[in-house]
Amino acid sequence: MIVATGKSIMNRIGIGKIKIYKAPEYTINEDTIEDVEAEVQRFNDAVQKAIDQQGVLYEKALETAGEESAAIFEAHQMMLEDDDLQDSTREIITGQKRSAEYATKTAFDDFAQMFAEMDDPYMKARSADLIDVEMAVLDVLMGNDADSLQGTEPAILVAEDLAPSETVKLDKSLLLGMITREGSSNSHTAILARSMNLPSLIQCKDIDDSWDGKMAILDGYNGCVYVDPTKDLLETLTAKRDADLKKEALLQELKNKPSTTIDGRNVHVYANIGGPADLGSVNENDAEGVGLFRSEFVYLNSKEAPSEEEQFRAYKRVVETLAPKLVIIRTCDIGADKTIDYMKLDKEENPALGFRAIRICLTRKDFFKTQLRALLRATAYGNMGIMFPMIISRWEVVEAKAILEECKAELLKEGYKIGKFQLGIMVETPAAVLCADELAEEVDFFSLGTNDLTQYTCAIDRQNAKLERFSDTHHPAVLKAIKMTVDAGHRHGAWVGICGELGADPTLTETFLRMGVDELSVNAKSVLPLRKIIRSLDLSKPATVE
Ligand code: PEP
Ligand code: MG
Repeated sequence: MIVATGKSIMNRIGIGKIKIYKAPEYTINEDTIEDVEAEVQRFNDAVQKAIDQQGVLYEKALETAGEESAAIFEAHQMMLEDDDLQDSTREIITGQKRSAEYATKTAFDDFAQMFAEMDDPYMKARSADLIDVEMAVLDVLMGNDADSLQGTEPAILVAEDLAPSETVKLDKSLLLGMITREGSSNSHTAILARSMNLPSLIQCKDIDDSWDGKMAILDGYNGCVYVDPTKDLLETLTAKRDADLKKEALLQELKNKPSTTIDGRNVHVYANIGGPADLGSVNENDAEGVGLFRSEFVYLNSKEAPSEEEQFRAYKRVVETLAPKLVIIRTCDIGADKTIDYMKLDKEENPALGFRAIRICLTRKDFFKTQLRALLRATAYGNMGIMFPMIISRWEVVEAKAILEECKAELLKEGYKIGKFQLGIMVETPAAVLCADELAEEVDFFSLGTNDLTQYTCAIDRQNAKLERFSDTHHPAVLKAIKMTVDAGHRHGAWVGICGELGADPTLTETFLRMGVDELSVNAKSVLPLRKIIRSLDLSKPATVE
């Protein structure tokens, strides 16, 4: 048995086989090849696999997003089956003696270009689909498709590191746990792992490729992974895992009960989500609404900037499904660790302090307007809030609101209906805390982003694993900043919630309630445990915590 240690980010146990995850590789070899026949066969197999994968995606989309959204995968299948396209690719392999990857890229790019040059707007738009199917074939050829990266069986995934853009693409139903050599506990990857309730270890320095396929236990209580565990250990930890599952099942009794303290104080317990795919867990865990929809995951999940129509569909689906519950959608918060190739952002020395979130949106106005129009259109379908991230100054809120008004006027003129909605900002910079009084005059609510607020208040890079020793999630400066924000919000009639990870910390629930926090938005799996704590508190009695 091999024992390796790391930092646990979830007190849970995962048991299963290990799958070593390799980051996708996209370099295309342009050299000539010898075995032309074998290469043609590789291409034929890859196309067939890509066709089958589009079929699976079609079925999945049909189930979760409906016929209209699913139709795109059917169209992709037809494109891949096209004889002209396939023949052109094979001709490059045989005629020019090039690899299947090179031939695919060349032939598919040519076809995409041909479509792009057509006058008919419908045909023109097919160019992007061709690039999508090209990527699907290349992914199979290069071992970057989901089956190759993640396998087809449930497993504990072991990786050097996982970027948020990689994590969102993982099939959650196949994940029994996650182990990375790198990573920090406040990174978005860790946040995603928590939202999936996934036993996870970061900074596990001893991971090894030889573990691939071996049986393992990830013990989140001890921050250990046991590879090839002894029979005794397997029995003990299986029993512990099953006991955890039973305890979690007991929480189900709290469904449909209010999150109200013994003395009658009601607190909203909402869920944080990344997109429509998380709707199931919002309902399963009886969240009273969504306090943070990280809309950038809609962008991260896409190969190019999602259109107004695509975004509208995603937002509408969430808002409509959860109505009349409140759904707060945060405008695109990209930059720092959430990078997107198609945004073509410059590399920066200091990305956490750089061109990100609202700064990008206020600079690239058309990009921002596409999202705001989609959001405004979705307001007609339920109870929505729109929230701006990374605010430091009042003028940013004023300017963002003016652009929102501009979009509203355009949409009304075009005949769209716009519903009522709330407007808020993330308070996640010390500047916003210190200017909270004036900012509160501009908005209906504040949502404290404690992940970034801690990073900026304590000058601790949330991505830097080396700083964990200096990082104190309960730092008095952060707690003081939260109290100041709550007081400033309330002075001006704005309600105040917390949507950073700290909101789910059960040791702080009483403190937050005594501070006057109105809402806690947490990963869906923490909703019922928090409700349990809230229902056990009596704020009329002396505090049980400092
Ligand atoms: C935060 O900063 O606390 C937050 C909720 O936003 P994100 O983690 O996405 O930066
Ligand atoms: Mg943030």
